Amino acid sequence: MNKINCTVCGSDNLLRILEIDSIPTHCNLLLKTPEEAKSVTKGKFDLEFCKNCGHVFNSAFQPELMEYTQEYENSLHFSMRFQEYAENLVDYLISKYELKNKTVIDVGCGKGDFLKMITKSGGNKGIGFDPSYVPDESDKDLKDVEFVLDFYSDKYSKYAADLITCRHVLEHIQFPADFISNVRKSVENHFNSKIFFEVPNVLYTLKDLGIWDLIYEHCSYFSPNSLTHLFENNGFNILEIKDYYGGQFLGIETSPSEKSKGTNPFNLNVEEITQFAENFKNEYDSKVKFWKSTIDEYSNKNKKIIVWGGGSKGVTFLNILKTQEVIEYIVDINPRKQGMYASGSGQKFVGPEFLKEYKPDLVLIMNPLYENEIKQAVRDLGISPKFLLP
Ligand SMILES: [Zn+2]
Repeated sequence: MNKINCTVCGSDNLLRILEIDSIPTHCNLLLKTPEEAKSVTKGKFDLEFCKNCGHVFNSAFQPELMEYTQEYENSLHFSMRFQEYAENLVDYLISKYELKNKTVIDVGCGKGDFLKMITKSGGNKGIGFDPSYVPDESDKDLKDVEFVLDFYSDKYSKYAADLITCRHVLEHIQFPADFISNVRKSVENHFNSKIFFEVPNVLYTLKDLGIWDLIYEHCSYFSPNSLTHLFENNGFNILEIKDYYGGQFLGIETSPSEKSKGTNPFNLNVEEITQFAENFKNEYDSKVKFWKSTIDEYSNKNKKIIVWGGGSKGVTFLNILKTQEVIEYIVDINPRKQGMYASGSGQKFVGPEFLKEYKPDLVLIMNPLYENEIKQAVRDLGISPKFLLP
């Protein structure tokens, strides 16, 4: 494989912080049998940290392995906590940018859930871009929302939007600088437009060791520094950058600059992140080791362990720890997953009700944000296992 420079700033001052030989290329696939689940396509993960801009990316990423299919399921909208978060974000953006009777574009809108919320709450007109959008019967009645089954590009400059949102798309893009430079071209001279992008926060991975968030689908991992650099370097003025969702996400607000470079009023220091990145490799290995021995300890005593949370975190945890024989089930409240098998590791997805008869001794809660929600649900089932948060 050719050596690849930083995909945000082009620097070759890189530090390899992690290598994983084989992880499923699609961790959210739903497979019908354990055999199918275990034989999914796997890819290599070489995680690089850029000492120049604080960006993290997988230099072994192969985009040709990324074909999204029907069995793909990553809707987070079943969680109340996530719903609430999205609603608060809608309120924040509407009030900050006075979005009443305005036009909002959502790039990579998926099923259009967020777009529908922001359109409805503000009486706005919404245009969603997504080549993978599947027309839904109920969407036909929506007067104020239009879906374009295409990538957003300068072909669509005629859609002058007051706000352009793009949530959880950029981390899937191998060369984000090209993407953002195209967004800048599409916005043209609409200098009053505001742009909001949201991505996972790599500081949560590096500093808080949210290591189960590393998935093949995400080839680009942004820090506040690299996200700022990306927009500023491609003609946007930075208005605000904040973390959200307990530090797990980053949101950046920008507006197009009249010059090829934008302005950045924030003083971001790469040295601190470099320190986190340097510590990361050792800490990654010891965290994995710790969870391996914890699970061994329980299974040696014939205790039953279950993972709660069948999203990327749960599936990555099970794939990295290779615990097929010890952990057999993953709980997920999404009924579309139940009865299917997890990509790579092959555990069966079950609904919460299953725990009543299974009676686990230990429940591993994959996302700390859902801790209370999950503990309450388990109590309501009338069982009292131990809880741990990997
Ligand atoms: Zn860089």
